[in-house]
Amino acid sequence: MYIYNTATRKKEEFIPRFEGKVSMYTCGPTVYHYAHIGNLRSYIMEDVLEKYLRFDGLDVKRVMNITDVGHLTSDGDTGDDKMLKGAKREHKTVMEIAKFYTDAFFEDCKKLNIKRPDVVEPATACIDEFIRVISSLIEKGYAYEAGGNIYFDTSKLKKYYIFNDFNEEDLEVGVREGVEADENKRNKADFVLWFTKSKFDDQELKWDSPWGVGYPGWHIECSCISMKHLGEYLDLHCGGIDNAFPHHTNEIAQSESYLGHEWCSYWFHVHHLNTNSGKMSKSSGEFLTVSLLEEKGYNPLVYRFFCLQSHYRKSLVFSYENLDNAAVAYNKLTAKIAALLKEEGGAVEQDKYDELMSGFKAALDNDLNTSLAITALYDVVKADTTPATKLKLIGEFDKVLSIGLIEEAKKLSDNKEKGEEIPAEIKELVEKRAEARKAKDFALADEIRNKITELGYIVEETRQGTVIKKA
Ligand code: AMP
Ligand code: ZN
Repeated sequence: MYIYNTATRKKEEFIPRFEGKVSMYTCGPTVYHYAHIGNLRSYIMEDVLEKYLRFDGLDVKRVMNITDVGHLTSDGDTGDDKMLKGAKREHKTVMEIAKFYTDAFFEDCKKLNIKRPDVVEPATACIDEFIRVISSLIEKGYAYEAGGNIYFDTSKLKKYYIFNDFNEEDLEVGVREGVEADENKRNKADFVLWFTKSKFDDQELKWDSPWGVGYPGWHIECSCISMKHLGEYLDLHCGGIDNAFPHHTNEIAQSESYLGHEWCSYWFHVHHLNTNSGKMSKSSGEFLTVSLLEEKGYNPLVYRFFCLQSHYRKSLVFSYENLDNAAVAYNKLTAKIAALLKEEGGAVEQDKYDELMSGFKAALDNDLNTSLAITALYDVVKADTTPATKLKLIGEFDKVLSIGLIEEAKKLSDNKEKGEEIPAEIKELVEKRAEARKAKDFALADEIRNKITELGYIVEETRQGTVIKKA
């Protein structure tokens, strides 16, 4: 398989350091709010990558952190701790907020068929590890104490900017634009490893350290959690493209200085989900969640399908119109698979199977081209071969795509068979809801839909009309 490595700016053949085994690290969510569907685009594409590596026969160990301390509102070490901000907003403790939004994140992942990583580690569980690595960085001369905080000294590196061509001047402009400069830093690009004395006196979570009571910076988390579970060498590191600088740049600086050798071989970055008004972010702009899509009648797997239709290295614009188009295509596809399920299966034609499978693999081998993998799926549906061949291929493809193709098709055919069984009461409510929507009385329409849900049914809007399903 070839993947684009952001660190070398080239498509490279993916060769893990130890044959047959892949160590994979993913930056997890900062759990001060729900994940928005932009964050989830990154996790969906990373999930496809992980599943494809497994599909290819590799033994993947995937680790993800949960950021529950140290991520400040500006990635440049200024602003409030995001967790504290979330706790204040909801009048709860930081740990209550962390638990609630960690659970909510994994609920969303489940709905989107995103597999849980093998190891999930919250930052607050690894404080001793952070202190050990920071102490070693100080000893080796890569870190210094100033104004009470511990900073990483970027001037000690031969090359700091890995992913971009930023130079000191560019960075100075960036600093002037948004946030006040930290007087303690020896160099503009230096970053905090451990905060002891800072302007956030009300920081809720603090730990004792050789440098006084304080808390870790965000970047050190990922270096330490990765090394703790995956060792000195990492094959693959993933994240959204906004994490490339400064977060991943700083991870590389710390890890390689600590280890004394190169650390991670491949960097996989997913580009952003944007709305018409710009990047979707937790702190500003339009904030769409999986639950909101569900409330509007969309199957979360339609959103996954929508993401797979585009390449991960292109930014993707979200609009309801685009999602509706994906819903129409998804419903047509599952209807075709439902029809296949009803046909006489026949035998699997191995030649056809191999040929169609190689189309799918070629797409994903080429830098995880999921949109071509979807085309390969359509090729299967259209192919001149037996239903058994097609269904076997679809089942295999869906181990990677995870869009619930067979399950949804089964639901569809079950519902069709039981079509007459939809109670008159439900049909009446659906009609009333349609009238309310027509009259633009969306509050009433929502109220009626809640009633339908309470009665155990789901209404979904598609271009082909309203679909009623048993929940
Ligand atoms: P956070 O919870 O803010 O730490 O972000 C979790 C993940 O989502 C990170 O890998 C981010 O790079 C990624 N991310 C943030 N915003 C977007 C977006 N609009 N589109 C895609 N990925 C994003
Ligand atoms: Zn990270």
